[in-house]
Amino acid sequence: MVKAKATMTEHNQVGWRFDNTYARLPGIFFAPAKPAAVGAPRLVILNRRLADDLGLDFEAILPEAAASVFGGQDLPSGARPIAQAYAGHQYGHFTMLGDGRAILLGEHRSPSGHLVDIQLKGSGQTQFSRRGDGRAALGPMLREYIISEAMFALGIPTTRSLAVVTTGDPVYRETKRRGAILTRVAASHIRVGTFEYLAARDDELNLRVLADYAIQRHYPELKDSPSRYVDFFRAVMDRQAALVARWQFVGFIHGVMNTDNMAISGETIDYGPCAFMNTYRPNTVFSSIDHAGRYAYGNQPAIAQWNLARFAESLLPLLADQQEKAVAVATEALDQYPALFEKYWLTGMRAKLGLQCAEAGDLELAQSLLTWMQNNRADFTNTFRDLSADQLPTGERYQDPEFREWHSRWQVRLSRESRSNTEAHVAMRGINPAVIPRNHRVEEALAAAEDHNDLSLLHRLLATLATPYDIDADAATYQEPSPEDCGYRTFCGT
Ligand code: AMP
Ligand code: MG
Repeated sequence: MVKAKATMTEHNQVGWRFDNTYARLPGIFFAPAKPAAVGAPRLVILNRRLADDLGLDFEAILPEAAASVFGGQDLPSGARPIAQAYAGHQYGHFTMLGDGRAILLGEHRSPSGHLVDIQLKGSGQTQFSRRGDGRAALGPMLREYIISEAMFALGIPTTRSLAVVTTGDPVYRETKRRGAILTRVAASHIRVGTFEYLAARDDELNLRVLADYAIQRHYPELKDSPSRYVDFFRAVMDRQAALVARWQFVGFIHGVMNTDNMAISGETIDYGPCAFMNTYRPNTVFSSIDHAGRYAYGNQPAIAQWNLARFAESLLPLLADQQEKAVAVATEALDQYPALFEKYWLTGMRAKLGLQCAEAGDLELAQSLLTWMQNNRADFTNTFRDLSADQLPTGERYQDPEFREWHSRWQVRLSRESRSNTEAHVAMRGINPAVIPRNHRVEEALAAAEDHNDLSLLHRLLATLATPYDIDADAATYQEPSPEDCGYRTFCGT
């Protein structure tokens, strides 16, 4: 026993425990891949809290050795790198895709017994790179780090960011930029598009293999159900409805809800052009390429349903023997999405307003607040936070008679709750964040890091975002929206 452990420590001081279940699936699911050689990997940031939770100890090795691992130059023992095959509907159009700039090292078993994907993003070309260089620039990788960790701290299911390294090599975008690699941790990277990939090839056998694998990994409680495939569909739908509702509660705009960016696990995935809304406007779009506003804030719930319809179509061969019957089964399940989403949305909005019991007028109460916010260009996050204070908000905007009228109605509604207003406010402060990643603050931290090698703002921002419900000494700086946010643009394909 002791001897075995000593040997293991020598070979694996960090504590990796790889079990490459995806790489054991049939060959059609992936292509072997090898991270590209890079000039000089250097650690920019390492998420020690996450490493701890994963049972990984990077203190046990030198920073150079850690950089080499996260740079793809020294593979952790037990890793078996692959690029995953998938397809997807991008802006409504079907395409064959696959990991073009990401390499899955394998699945690490965490101390709690869960398998998590360890993926390098930006580590060079794969068989699926098409014309892309397989690389990533430092700014966008740090951006994913900031936003994904902020989402985690907000309590929203998400992939995580373990580390970012610079590669020492340039990448060429509109300008020459510093190349970087992000190590992403995910429950898995199985997407709606992974199912679409097999469905498009009419590969029913492997479609079933994938469904069984996904059920085993993410919904094991369903594996013995005689109706497990439709149950699986419903369970994914349920998690997606809950997830998108949670995005709406914090003003998160994913920005590129293509079916290849929707994870079967129910985690938020693929932080490209995402950004947080400031003033409440349902048609808010930040992505520079989303001209039609397909992925606008207010469209997210409906787009999730559109994506789920593509998921259901892919699953048809598993849902019934005859196509007609399968379509009926899928349609019946999918038709429940609007009510399901509304249930999650209304439950969450009640909580944001401090309400515990349900009353018929609650939907209207919540909606009239949103309408007032929209008409008065009120900041979404700050309005809910102001309502969470014990005193009536005093800002000039709140002197508006229309707001006063709404506020009185809300007070009357609160008086019918069993807990006191003070108790309701405490609960509200636990779910209405004080700080979110404000776009100008994110940009400022990224510019300092990318252009001046100065990580101080990045660390300050991350520290504040790690406790989004608390007002710490730094919070005031990070609570204000930028005055000129209307023109804010984000980019994907970064
Ligand atoms: P994304 O917009 O990050 O979801 O990526 C969409 C697709 O484009 C995926 O198949 C990516 O792997 C691929 N892709 C994005 N950027 C690159 C790149 N620089 N090189 C190769 N493939 C890429
Ligand atoms: Mg993607």
